[in-house]
Amino acid sequence: MAELHDPVSRVPGVGIVRAAALRHRGIQTVEDLLLQLPFRYEDRSKVSKISELIVGESYTFNVEVNRIRRLGHRGRSRVEAVMSDETGELKVVWFRQPYVADAIAQGDPVSVFGKVVEHDGNPQLVNPVLEKGGGLHLGRVVPIYRRIGKLTPGVLRRLIDACIDLVGEIPESLPDSTRRRLQLASRQEAVVGIHRPTSTAKPSVLNAARSPAHQRLVCEEFLSLQTVLQLQRAQGKSELLGPEMILDEASVAAILKVLPFRLTPGQEAALSTILADMQSRVPMHRLLQGDVGCGKTAVAGGALLVAATAGYQAAIMVPTELLARQHLRWLAPWAAAGGVHMECLTGTTSSGSKQQILDGLANGDIRLLVGTHALLEPEVLFSKLGLAVIDEQHRFGVRQRALLREKGRADHHQCPHLLVMTATPIPRTLELTVYGDLDVCKIDDMPPGRQPVVSQVVPAANWSRVVEMLVETVHRGEQAYVVAPRIKEGDDELSAAVQLQVELQRQLPGVHIGLLHGKQVRDERSSTMESFRAGQIDVLVSTTVVEVGVDVTNATLMVIGHAERFGLAQLHQLRGRVGRGSVQATCIFLAHEPLSKKAQLRLEAVQSTTDGFELAEKDLSLRGPGELLGTRQAGVAGLRVGDLFRDHEWLELTCKEARRLAAAEDDESVEYCQRIQRYWERRFAMTQTG
Ligand code: ADP
Ligand code: MG
Repeated sequence: MAELHDPVSRVPGVGIVRAAALRHRGIQTVEDLLLQLPFRYEDRSKVSKISELIVGESYTFNVEVNRIRRLGHRGRSRVEAVMSDETGELKVVWFRQPYVADAIAQGDPVSVFGKVVEHDGNPQLVNPVLEKGGGLHLGRVVPIYRRIGKLTPGVLRRLIDACIDLVGEIPESLPDSTRRRLQLASRQEAVVGIHRPTSTAKPSVLNAARSPAHQRLVCEEFLSLQTVLQLQRAQGKSELLGPEMILDEASVAAILKVLPFRLTPGQEAALSTILADMQSRVPMHRLLQGDVGCGKTAVAGGALLVAATAGYQAAIMVPTELLARQHLRWLAPWAAAGGVHMECLTGTTSSGSKQQILDGLANGDIRLLVGTHALLEPEVLFSKLGLAVIDEQHRFGVRQRALLREKGRADHHQCPHLLVMTATPIPRTLELTVYGDLDVCKIDDMPPGRQPVVSQVVPAANWSRVVEMLVETVHRGEQAYVVAPRIKEGDDELSAAVQLQVELQRQLPGVHIGLLHGKQVRDERSSTMESFRAGQIDVLVSTTVVEVGVDVTNATLMVIGHAERFGLAQLHQLRGRVGRGSVQATCIFLAHEPLSKKAQLRLEAVQSTTDGFELAEKDLSLRGPGELLGTRQAGVAGLRVGDLFRDHEWLELTCKEARRLAAAEDDESVEYCQRIQRYWERRFAMTQTG
């Protein structure tokens, strides 16, 4: 008998080599192996007679070996046999499996399963599954596993089957009350039911993901992940103290007066939620979601200024230098009006200025810091960090978020309020799971006067029409972006920004064409951006460095070369660079043939709507959640059984249950919470070292 957490090498048939192959896939324990679920089933339960066969169908036959011989050699070897039952004879062939000839001999009774094809006018069974006696691979509904390295589906079937015998009774992992509430099968029933389905169940019913057994395991996994997120959130709230800021309405109003516009109702609601959080001793841990261009910066800026004038330090971290400069410019009049000393720290800050900044942060002179990843360096220490904001948080990892939060703790044993912002909308169904440890608020309106960007997919062959549009735009006194997927040496002009800039300049001698990409030195990049902002550059040819956050209102045309190469979220982000003022803007998605089916669907989707949430739902169905969520959600990406998209109808129910479990005080729930917390700590530690 083995325990679930015993190493997988305890399973009969798993030696050093197989254990290594399994470990490579993250399968370390007996339990891990048991949770390798089949992705489909094959009904091999029905035994047919040779006389009934129809070419093109698959059958199981119980037969006797009449003749068997090995032919050819090495790579071209072949085993040929003739087998029969009481209704007739059938020719059977195995290619490149010479060992079959040693495994069976004339007169042996065997079972074979495979597809009948026609060869030289006669039916013939090719490469069938062969079983002597037994009944593991044939004569029943058989689970089909995905192969793992050299471990074939058949080998896995044998190992997993042995695993079930080895463990015996699989202990229940969910509290009874939870199982009752969600009406779930027991763990034992589920695991055995999945790997050893009864022959009476039809494969269509068993259809891997749909069976009750499968769903029990999916729920178990969702529940475990969601509960641990809830626990983390609760822990953050109970153990740590946040700066309890004292704010008065008059000074908040005075700060907002500096803004060149009135906040929209959505922005106002978000800001007041955030300010309420900041006045609490519970550290804020909040996500501000809002589509591209809805004005998240103004909300964050308000919160930063309020914190800075309330006697605290405030910091905002962004993913690119470009964005840091832009925020700096935007915040400058605000900071000046509030008498707040502001600085900017990035990877390219000179060491002299850096030392001054470090000193200013340590002695509390600097109240507001804008910066990139450089903010996370260990020598950056604040004296009284009250609010930390992360913009475009999907560009950062969970770890970086935690690091920034640590910055406020050195002296005060306090945890700063944390606000993270993202323009990458995620479907509602996922939000519960992915952001389970964060409070979420949303800006769901747009600044007044915005018109949706006109979106058009245009074949690359119509490039000359695009050039005309560029000219028209420039003649109206407006500006344009042209985005190329690569910097240099693309397979054609449109894929390489450098060549494209030269080419466009040649075609449009009177127009100022600028160039922006990530390999330029900082000064070149910021001066180009500066000139574009100032209107000295008419058309900016760039790589995706303009993707996040860049805000130039006079830009009204976006042309995306090789749009078929970009993901949906990226296309939406890029399009969001225009349409930021009240003038009608256009986005051209240049499509280069041939388009894959998926690329075509992506382009259709992005053309059909400018609603980020709708696109997120489509993206999810096109790509699947793992990719969509990227690195942020190490835990979610680590789902083994569940699939956020396929199984999304369980998310809400399990999330509710997870909240209940995390808050409950009965022994059963508490024991469950402790157990899964240990489990995720172990897994998290594993993924960090491995
Ligand atoms: P995002 O949410 O994508 O970060 P930004 O904060 O960059 O959006 O804002 C987009 C543009 O909208 C900016 O030019 C900003 O000045 C403008 N803006 C933001 N809020 C308002 C508002 N309430 N009224 C008018 N313009 C606004
Ligand atoms: Mg932004």
